[in-house]
Amino acid sequence: MEEITIGQRFPLTIKRLDINGSGIGYFKRKITFVTGALPGEVVVAEVTKIHDRYLEARCHGVKKASPDRIPPIDPLWGKVGGIELGHLAYPAQLRFKSDVVSQALAKFKPAGWQHYQLRPTIGAAQPRHYRNKAQFPVRVIDGHVRAGLYAPDSHDLVPLTTFATQRPLTMTLMTQLCQLLEDLAIPIYDEKANSGIVKTLVIRETTQGLAQVTFVTNSKKLPHQNHLLARIASDLPAVVSVSQNINPGRTSMVWGPETKLLAGLPYVTETILGRQFRLSPQAFLQLNPEQTEKLYQLALDALDLQPQDTLVDAYAGVGTIGLTLAHRAKAVRGMELIPEAVADANANAALNGITNARYDVGKAEDVFPKWLHEGFSPDAVIVDPPRAGLDPEFIAALHQARPQRFVYISCNPSTLARDLVALSRDWQVDYIQSIDMFPQTARCEAVVKFTRKH
Ligand code: SAH
Repeated sequence: MEEITIGQRFPLTIKRLDINGSGIGYFKRKITFVTGALPGEVVVAEVTKIHDRYLEARCHGVKKASPDRIPPIDPLWGKVGGIELGHLAYPAQLRFKSDVVSQALAKFKPAGWQHYQLRPTIGAAQPRHYRNKAQFPVRVIDGHVRAGLYAPDSHDLVPLTTFATQRPLTMTLMTQLCQLLEDLAIPIYDEKANSGIVKTLVIRETTQGLAQVTFVTNSKKLPHQNHLLARIASDLPAVVSVSQNINPGRTSMVWGPETKLLAGLPYVTETILGRQFRLSPQAFLQLNPEQTEKLYQLALDALDLQPQDTLVDAYAGVGTIGLTLAHRAKAVRGMELIPEAVADANANAALNGITNARYDVGKAEDVFPKWLHEGFSPDAVIVDPPRAGLDPEFIAALHQARPQRFVYISCNPSTLARDLVALSRDWQVDYIQSIDMFPQTARCEAVVKFTRKH
């Protein structure tokens, strides 16, 4: 076979989208993933990477367009990540997400998978400007301090002042903070030299229009700190909480181990389904406030809690799910890896006058078996793990506990389908309800309702 070269172009018919939102076609029988191409299209693919068993390509041009193709939602579409479906009409994005769940089930084939009720993906009323948080690297470009996102597969910063999925206040603050850093000549991190100080700006915005700012720095020092804080206080009234996180050296992790409060409150407060939640800088919160309330409502409905039930809220974050349910249960216990989030969760219980909930620090796969060993056997369990899904130890403990009511919130259909292989031994899947928490991206969230088998 003739050798394929990088940069080579050829026409390609796109069959479907893969789970990352790339178009799939076959060139000389080799599977080819084309970013920016849509099912049913004929495109000119340009090879960007060659692997033994597949090719990566980008869409150089469209010869026959999909009826679902729209003009990209952001001028930087294709140049930065995070909006990989920004050229696909929103209803088609939702159909894609339902299909991702089906594809994952077909791959792992958990017991009875052909009979699962797969409900159509619930969309967002506002599929743009929904993200309540931005975590942008900061660099000096042409003598100016800029924040933005990396170009795909690189550490080349693409500066951003607006972005299709970010809320406008976040982006305005990002731009103003960069200008402040520049005005005060605060040293900015240089990755090549591993020198300079400010590496990343993290901004979290609440639905009340208040903001939490964290400067992630290469060292404990933050020169001109007093000036900086004075300017934030006078110029940026939306900012109510300012912290520094110290994360020295070249590392792929955004956060280092130490966070210290610089000004204002150590938290911001968000309202979800009528309850208040304090959030420390590092604590996880769902990124799409409109969809979060829908997601939790779906989970609450699926769980169908009874007044005498004890509930485990696993992978709890700041306790948002368990505390929303506490008034309908006898007792709630939760666990979460990040100590600051657990402190928030316990403070949030008190803040909402909830006395029957308690949160512990630790890995779900360690804490849950320990609780069982101590004789605590919950009637209901809700899990909301990160993309890696459930740990086998956790699943083993679930089989031991056999809770009557069980709901799984998944942010990754692949690991969900994998976990269902083990879970379907003791539980029947009643339905899978997917919901779009991340419009314009290929990511998909789903709530699974189970019934325990006899
Ligand atoms: N239920 C929460 C958080 C879900 S995100 C909400 O809806 O906001 C998943 C959470 O699991 C994160 O807060 C993360 O810190 C935590 N986590 C990750 N691995 C974990 C583990 N092995 N055990 C317990 N918590 C974990």
